[in-house]
Amino acid sequence: MAEKLDLVVRGGTVVFPVDSPEAPAGRLMRTDVGIAEGKVVRFEPTIKDATAEVVDAEGMYVFPGILDAHVHFNEPGRADWEGLATGSAALAAGGGAAFFDMPLNSLPPVLDGASFAEKRALAERLSVLDFALWGGLVPGNLDRLDELADAGAIGLKAFLCDSGVPEFQAIADERTLREGMRRAAAHGLLVAVHAEDDLTVRKATEAARRRGSDPHWWLKSRPLEAELLAIDRALELADETGCALHVVHVSSPEGLARIVDAQEEGVDVTAETCPHYLLLSDADVLRLGAVAKCAPPLRDEGRRRDLWRRLFAGEVDTLGSDHSPAPPSTKEGDDFFAVWGGISGCQHGFPLLLSEALETGEPATVLPRLAALLAANVARRFRLDETKGRLAVGLDADFSLLRIDREETLDNADLLYRHRQGPYHGRRCRVQVQRTVVRGRTAYLRQAAAGGAEPPSNADRPRGQLLRPQS
Ligand code: ZN
Repeated sequence: MAEKLDLVVRGGTVVFPVDSPEAPAGRLMRTDVGIAEGKVVRFEPTIKDATAEVVDAEGMYVFPGILDAHVHFNEPGRADWEGLATGSAALAAGGGAAFFDMPLNSLPPVLDGASFAEKRALAERLSVLDFALWGGLVPGNLDRLDELADAGAIGLKAFLCDSGVPEFQAIADERTLREGMRRAAAHGLLVAVHAEDDLTVRKATEAARRRGSDPHWWLKSRPLEAELLAIDRALELADETGCALHVVHVSSPEGLARIVDAQEEGVDVTAETCPHYLLLSDADVLRLGAVAKCAPPLRDEGRRRDLWRRLFAGEVDTLGSDHSPAPPSTKEGDDFFAVWGGISGCQHGFPLLLSEALETGEPATVLPRLAALLAANVARRFRLDETKGRLAVGLDADFSLLRIDREETLDNADLLYRHRQGPYHGRRCRVQVQRTVVRGRTAYLRQAAAGGAEPPSNADRPRGQLLRPQS
């Protein structure tokens, strides 16, 4: 006797990520999806159930809920920059089912058990999406890593160069990083690094500032060598300490190549890149200014194209938005070195990335690959794959419904961020998120959805739950 269903997703085409354990991995399958108590319980060509709520997905793709392992929602402390409510709502509109919030830019930064508990309580109250929390790895908190592990941190984040905020110090010296990674490994915690070499950036900044203060000279202050040097050092120490390493926002093909080589040598390392390195280049920094300022910086057009090639060759492990917003007032001024960096991208970045990817191939090849990079690989790397990352019987019913049959123009006026700014305004996009569902509940519903469905009431919305790595 089949169990009672709460929800049936009817007539959609389900996207199964490549490299997943399910039989249809790497494929598309037209099927109904039956959901009970927040879990997927069956796939059948036609599910007949008179009592379940039905969501019409005819003509749409049922895409696994995106796990965005890299956001800065800045709450507590700088909620006026973004906030957990606005950030999670915006990510839901971009197809996200869960986010991993970085330990810095919120105040206090998450460096111990108490700061972790404070952010966790806020996210449980404010987020419409499930969430994980990063802890920080800074020179002063090596004795607090046990607290972060016990609290359920998804990993530790370290900066190898200045983080931009005084309360989150870089680990610029090799000795401290080695010790930090050694201890992280002992606690079973993965370490993510912002890989730019501090000394190289400082020297290049000094030299560039003498020449000018505009975007052109600022780009010169973050040379590719800084990224490569830092990646090399982190890889060496991961090899030496046995610590699991995740290099976030890899901006260059050369950086990726080093990580792939290390993987082949047996180092436990993965590479993340971000939609903006695939959708924008250094020319956009000159054209758009502060909304396209990030570190490492956007690279040249040749490298952007090469990143795409490597992505389809399987050299990228995960994609994260690095959504890093700040008030517009911090992004003004003539001195481009002084304007606040960070790209707001968690809402428009993923649909536009999917749209651009679909320019290169058929949905049947493109969508399963992107589903792996945006969901399944993230779940596997962060040990959440028993509940998240793909549509499978017994796993959480997390997905978005995508339309890919019409092109629209992205408009910053549609952004749900606290500050409606971003680099994708005016871009043509053929992927639209119609609805995002988390554990069977609707977290986002596009207002003009076909059929005129009512938006979900606040009472029905999902409430974020903490995701902690499986032991
Ligand atoms: Zn970041």
